[in-house]
Amino acid sequence: MILVLLDVDRGALDPVSLQVLTLARGLDPDVQAVVAADPSVAAEAASHGAGVVHVAEHAGLTDYAPRATARAVVQLIGSLSPAAVLAGGTPRGNEVMAHVAAFLDAPLATDCTSITMGTPFEVSRARWGGNLLEESTVTAPMLLATVQPHAIGAEPAPAAGTVQSFTPDLDDADLAVRIVERTGAAATGVSLAEARVVVSGGRGMGGPEPFAMLDDLAAILGGTVGCSRVVTSEGWRPHSEQVGQTGTKVAPDLYVACGISGATQHLAGCKNSKVLVAINTDGQAPIMQIADYAVVGDVHAFLPLLLAQARAASAG
Ligand SMILES: Cc1cc2nc3c(=O)[nH]c(=O)nc-3n(C[C@H](O)[C@H](O)[C@H](O)COP(=O)(O)OP(=O)(O)OC[C@H]3O[C@@H](n4cnc5c(N)ncnc54)[C@H](O)[C@@H]3O)c2cc1C
Repeated sequence: MILVLLDVDRGALDPVSLQVLTLARGLDPDVQAVVAADPSVAAEAASHGAGVVHVAEHAGLTDYAPRATARAVVQLIGSLSPAAVLAGGTPRGNEVMAHVAAFLDAPLATDCTSITMGTPFEVSRARWGGNLLEESTVTAPMLLATVQPHAIGAEPAPAAGTVQSFTPDLDDADLAVRIVERTGAAATGVSLAEARVVVSGGRGMGGPEPFAMLDDLAAILGGTVGCSRVVTSEGWRPHSEQVGQTGTKVAPDLYVACGISGATQHLAGCKNSKVLVAINTDGQAPIMQIADYAVVGDVHAFLPLLLAQARAASAG
């Protein structure tokens, strides 16, 4: 049996959890899931193959609490003895699984792109922002691993999805780190990680104002805006929009890079895009070498033309 840790944020199941369930089904037909506090996602998990969804219920587990969740997972491992425990290779998934590994004094393979069950386990891992693929073996009685987002597409496969609650034994130290309050702007619109279209800007945009063109283009195309790290460092756009090794990793159908050079740290976040369009005054910029469509030109001249065409097409 394989146990999958579900990542739930305010009632919404992280889509990466569905990708992990899909990968788990390919390893073992018996897939079960565990979630902290929130049974509302059980049906969605079942639709992707979770035969049983174990819900950790505790008065202190009301929002993200990494160590407490890990403690609950460890207690469940004790009663279920799964062959492997998998989670999404997201910041939260990696954090909880790191606690699980520490509690069990067991190895953890993070950001796996493929897993083969056996003795030892074999895993491929994305390293150095995805620039290096590492083939490793893991010698342990049970595999603890996280799966790189978008390493596999989520495929539905209905299962029973029986819900079973359990009460983890938690102490104050387990609950010392948890979300107690949220401040700041609420997330709106299409999520960057899951957007089918990302229109992204770099230093070549020249300042915050021209990003209005990207906002408009993204709205017409039903997508969202991304950016390079230079842009967030300059304060032109929020960090939540940064694409790359230290930002969000995206895999849209269409990625439009405007005035972005294509540093390896940026490409680490967008190279899984199905179609990459780059607009850059420098035809030799690295991003132009990997783009499916490379437009050698000034964004300030080209984007207004592109926007006009997009507006006309959407109006027609
Ligand atoms: C540890 C580490 C982690 C990092 N993580 C990230 C990350 O997650 N994401 C990320 O993006 N970066 C990251 N970086 C930074 C990265 O190395 C680059 O510095 C950054 O991506 C460059 O951003 P840029 O392409 O916008 O700027 P530049 O590299 O300065 O490129 C600007 C581009 O715009 C073009 N241009 C200029 N004017 C115009 C115009 N008018 N029209 C069209 N094109 C024009 C130029 O030809 C150039 O190619 C990281 C760096 C480190 C060291």
